[in-house]
Amino acid sequence: MPREYLKKAIKTAQTGASDVHQTVSDILVDIEQGGEDAARKYAAQFDGYDGPVLLDANAIAEACARVPQSLRDDIAFAHDNVRRFAETQKQSVQDVQTEVLPGLIAGQKTIPCNAAGCYIPGGRYAHVASAIMTVTTAKVAGVSHIAACSPPHPGVGLPPAIIFAAHLCGADSILAMGGVQGIAAMTFGLFGLPRADILAGPGNQYVAEAKRILYGRVGIDMVAGPTDSLILADVSADPHIVATDLVSQAEHGYNSPVWLVTDNRALAMDVAARVPALIAALPTLNRESAEAAWRDYAEIVLCDDREEMVACSDAYAPEHLTVQAADLDWWLDRLTCYGSLFLGEETTVSYGDKATGTNHVLPTSGAAKYTGGLSVHKYMKVVTWQRATRAGSKSVAIATARISRVEGMEGHARSADVRLAKYFPDETFD
Ligand code: NAD
Repeated sequence: MPREYLKKAIKTAQTGASDVHQTVSDILVDIEQGGEDAARKYAAQFDGYDGPVLLDANAIAEACARVPQSLRDDIAFAHDNVRRFAETQKQSVQDVQTEVLPGLIAGQKTIPCNAAGCYIPGGRYAHVASAIMTVTTAKVAGVSHIAACSPPHPGVGLPPAIIFAAHLCGADSILAMGGVQGIAAMTFGLFGLPRADILAGPGNQYVAEAKRILYGRVGIDMVAGPTDSLILADVSADPHIVATDLVSQAEHGYNSPVWLVTDNRALAMDVAARVPALIAALPTLNRESAEAAWRDYAEIVLCDDREEMVACSDAYAPEHLTVQAADLDWWLDRLTCYGSLFLGEETTVSYGDKATGTNHVLPTSGAAKYTGGLSVHKYMKVVTWQRATRAGSKSVAIATARISRVEGMEGHARSADVRLAKYFPDETFD
């Protein structure tokens, strides 16, 4: 039976994607050819800024001094939580080795990338928390050089709180440059940066597309574009809290989908009735985003039972998934596709977005089907190594030579033959 939509989206993450792709490709080509001048041109065009791009020590110190003590404390609190969580994640990656055969040892070790480029979104809101999430995690991973970039405000530059957070968390270079031009600067090594080995961080559709296009030439954490959020709610959920949480995520941007999936029609109707008033009560900028997101992208889905709710949620593979329902462990055991899971009314996506310690850079547009969010692991390479004694290499050499010849790879076979001949001169091998 087809699912019942009490509200259906009229736009999706794919709406307008080809226009964005063309725009971003053109900008990247232009900046690769034109270098820093071209990057500055786009900073002026999109962000109305033509000031210094790479911040020097004085600029950083002056900005930090302008951040009120209470905000410094809050940023330090969030940084501590994110750092602690990242340190715990890092412990889960152990270097290992095993003796595959007597005298044949193979191992795995984890090596941090040398240079990371962290994108801190800042077009609509000054995403201070993204500075904490991206830079702290790179630092804990052990990245040698961490660059951070964010869009400057027109004629002004970066918000001091962004500079303070990036500096506190361990950024080695801070660029007042955002959007595609910021991503390009970190990738192509402009403004004195080393070329990034990996780009990380969330952003709007232009930023996400730039990372997607550049992937392969540079690593990326994932596609972390416009935020999406899904709430699973049953009859036990508080409709006011559900509605408030949906609106809180819709304020991210005009194209940030929020979805409610429930098996209770009365709850769905109640939530839908509350949302417009909650949106109307937001400040103007936030209201405009939330209104458009709710009108164009939001969905309310009515399911028969909780099993169907799980299947429905997994099909969306939301970035943020909230469960406001009874028996939280039941949901934790069964849900399989989400960037981050928020279990119960007592926690909320906003906590995770700012300060819980779990990372808020998360897969969007269904990418949670194949990846989790930003973690120390994204900044680290899991590599393998091997060594053998002469005796230990014998059976491998024999098998290698035979397999290689079946494949027609005579050069490979001879690499094995030459060792057999050297180490076992008195023996013959077929
Ligand atoms: P942003 O920093 O991502 O983008 C701003 C930049 O976009 C500007 O500097 C400008 O250069 C560029 N831009 C704007 N219009 C353009 C155009 N027409 N052509 C080319 N470039 C253009 O900031 P934002 O716009 O506020 O978006 C932040 C995004 O980050 C939101 O979509 C939010 O949902 C998302 N976000 C995602 C996550 C996640 O983990 N997935 C977390 C936080 C935020």
